[in-house]
Order: sequence, then structure tokens, then C-alpha cells
Amino acid sequence: MKKLLTDAHCHAHEFGEGELRKFEEVFEVIVAVSDDLVSSKKTLELSERYLFLAPCVGVHPWALGDSDPHELARELERLVRCGRVRCLGEVGLDLAFVPQTFDKQLDFFRMVLDIAKDYDLPVNVHTAKAWRQAHEEVLAKGVRRALFHWYSGPLDVLNEIVARGYLISVNPTVKISSKHLEIAKKVPLSALTFESDGPYDYRGLRLSPWLIPEAVRLVAMERGLDEVELLEASKDNIVKFLGK
Ligand SMILES: [Zn+2]
Repeated sequence: MKKLLTDAHCHAHEFGEGELRKFEEVFEVIVAVSDDLVSSKKTLELSERYLFLAPCVGVHPWALGDSDPHELARELERLVRCGRVRCLGEVGLDLAFVPQTFDKQLDFFRMVLDIAKDYDLPVNVHTAKAWRQAHEEVLAKGVRRALFHWYSGPLDVLNEIVARGYLISVNPTVKISSKHLEIAKKVPLSALTFESDGPYDYRGLRLSPWLIPEAVRLVAMERGLDEVELLEASKDNIVKFLGK
């Protein structure tokens, strides 16, 4: 039976297999992002056994460290050539937590976007306080499919993102952040998806896919829409995002 629940951005490789099996019972698709090359390989390996996981390979801006971005991009492309990769992520730019590495982040992100373009893959993008820059880079490279995860930036950039046909994912923090809830109310259904970013602790909230139904309920209530309508929109958008 087809299920309605989806998660647009989850670090599935950090969950135990017992938990993954439980997710599999209720989630149609979990877009499984990676943090670095090691977790990218693990995500690919998990996706061979858990078909509901859509594997993304990537290096998070927090994980660039002292590595040579050219070498990382070459390794990433090697993984892409294996043919199982469904998207590139988690990748992006971060001016909130690691602004000191921004130049390196930008070098690497541009190379990742070239890979996305060359292999026609979608990108699952981290944009902490670098919303405008991340959107401009994606646009400049002509990447067709992009999802700006846990978007919390200004509304004018949000409008540009959705006008270009890119997606936004709404996080369960709508329950504790009025700012995040306000954004969730502004995203048109054509660009809306739900995510967990689990497992991650945000102000005492342990993020996991299990929080998505409650987030959907809250956003539906705030928007005066039916929950099923939001679940279907999120699922349709994720399916389109993944393509093929
Ligand atoms: Zn993440």
C-alpha cells in the first residue's frame, strides 16, 4: 500500500536499523542526506536494503575541515558514477556557524553544482544565514532541481526560490519557533515539503521523522487546509524533485 508520509531531508545513516525498519512501515520516501564521504558510502549501502531511502551523497559545510575541496569533489563524483545516487546533499553554504570557511565552502559548493548539472541530479541545500548566496549560486549554475532545507531566511529570497520552481522544506521546529511557522504559512503548495533533519537536537526538541505528522497537522490548521492536502503536496513535490 502506498503511504502518504515523506521526509525531504533526514540523516538516516545516523539512525539504527531497528528505527529505519519502523520508518519503512509508515514512510513512502525518506530523502537520506549524508554529512561526508564516509556517511555518503553508508547511505548508499543502506539504500540497497531500504528501498524507501532516496540516497544523497555530499559533504556538509561543517565537515569541510582541512580537506582539499577539489579532492572531495572528485571523490563525490566517483560515488555519483556508481549510478545509485538520487541527489546531492547535504551541501551548501553556512554563514551562521562556520563563516570562517566561507571561501572554501563556496569553492566546493560550485564544484558540487557542476556535478549536479553534469549528471542532472537535484541538490539538497543547507543555507544557514547564506540564503541569498546559496540561491544565487544554484541559479547561476542552471541547476534544475533544488531543495532549500529548513529555510529560515527573508521572504523576498523565499519568493525568488519558489518563483524559480525550487522547493522549501519545513521542519518540525514550527512547533516551537514562530518565525519558522510564519515561513511555513507562506510557502505555496507547489514548493512545500516537510522534513525532519533528524537526528538533531534543536532547543530541546529531538528532531526525527516521527515529528513530521504533528508538524503537518499544525501547519494545516494554521493555513486552514486539510492535512492530507499538505501530505500529498509534499509527496508529489519530493517525487518530482527526485525525478526518474
Ligand atoms: Zn541536515
